[in-house]
Amino acid sequence: MTPHAGMPPVAAMVALAATLLIVALGACTAYQAPEPDRATSGRSAAPPASPTVSRSPTPPPSTTPTPEEPPADSPRPERFREDLALRTVRHLALRIGPRHATSPAFAEAVRWTSSRLRDLGYDVRRQPVQVPGGVSWGVPVSRGVSHNVVATTPRFDPTAPYLLVGAHLDTVPPAPGAEDNASGVSVVLELARLATSEGTRLPVVFVLFGAEEPRGSGDDLHHFGSTAYVERLSPVERSNLVAMVSLDRVGVGQAVPVCTGGLSPLVVQQQLVGAAAAVDVATTRCTDNQSSDHWSFEKAGVAVARIGSTPYAAYHGAADLPGVVSESQLRRVGTTMWRWLTG
Ligand SMILES: [Zn+2]
Repeated sequence: MTPHAGMPPVAAMVALAATLLIVALGACTAYQAPEPDRATSGRSAAPPASPTVSRSPTPPPSTTPTPEEPPADSPRPERFREDLALRTVRHLALRIGPRHATSPAFAEAVRWTSSRLRDLGYDVRRQPVQVPGGVSWGVPVSRGVSHNVVATTPRFDPTAPYLLVGAHLDTVPPAPGAEDNASGVSVVLELARLATSEGTRLPVVFVLFGAEEPRGSGDDLHHFGSTAYVERLSPVERSNLVAMVSLDRVGVGQAVPVCTGGLSPLVVQQQLVGAAAAVDVATTRCTDNQSSDHWSFEKAGVAVARIGSTPYAAYHGAADLPGVVSESQLRRVGTTMWRWLTG
C-alpha cells in the first residue's frame, strides 16, 4: 500500500515522514528490547546464553529505555518458585529417600539432578570422589566412589571471574534428608533455572557435592566431595573464583543464618546480609560454623559463606521428611540468594 498515492505533494511528504518515523521507532524499540535467550527443555535443546548479564560500557541515550525499565510488552521476569523447590525436596526425600554417599540411592539422586540441570541447558559433569569406609551417624558404611555434580553454562570461561553456589546431595544413612540437605539442593536447582532466563552479575558454577556427611569423627572424615573439588581446581580456576556459598539445611526457621568458619573475610557474609535486607528477610550471623562444604573452600583461602543450620528435632534422623521444610523459609533463602547473584 502507498498511503500517499494521489495526495498533494505536501501531504504526501508529511505521510512519508510519518511512515519513516514509525519505522525508525519500531527498529529502535526492537534494538533496545531484544528477546531474552530462554533455555528450552529437552536434552537436544539449544544451550542458554551465558547467564552473565552483559552490561554495555557506554550507557544508552537518556531518551531510550534503560535495562531496568523494560517496555510494557516484555515478558515478566521469572521469580524464585518455592513451590518448585519443595517439589524437589519431596522427590529427593520421598521418592529416592536416604542416600548416603556411596549408595545406589545416591547414584539415583546424581542421575536425577544431572538430568534436571541438563534439561535447563547446562553442561553437567560428574566428578568421581574416592571415600573411605567408616561409621556414618552410627551406621557402618563401606569405602567406595561418590560423585560431585558440576553444572556450567556451555560458554563458561574459568579464566574470568565467577561465583560458585553448592549444596551437598548425600545424607547420613538413616535419614531421608528433606532438610539435610534436599532443601539446599532444591534452592540450587531453582537458582540454576532462574539463571538461564534472567542472567546473573557474574557466571555461576552450580555444584551438588557428594560425601559431605561424616564417615567418622574429625576434620578429615567429612566434606570429601568439596575437598576433592577444591584440590582439583587449577590455579587459574582457583584465582578467578570470587566467592563460594554453601546452602546446607535452609528450610527450617524464620531468620536465615549466614555464617563463615572464621577464616574467610566477611565480605560474602556482609553481601548476603545486605541482599537479605533488600528483600526484607531477617538474618543471623556467626563466624564459627565449619560444618559444611564452605569450609573446604575457606581453608583454601576462598571468600565464602554458609547459609543455613537452624537446629531442628529431626536432624540426621528418619523423621527428616518434607513436613519439616517450610516453603516460606525456602523462599527467604531463595530470594536472598537471587538478590546476591543479581545485585
Ligand atoms: Zn548437611
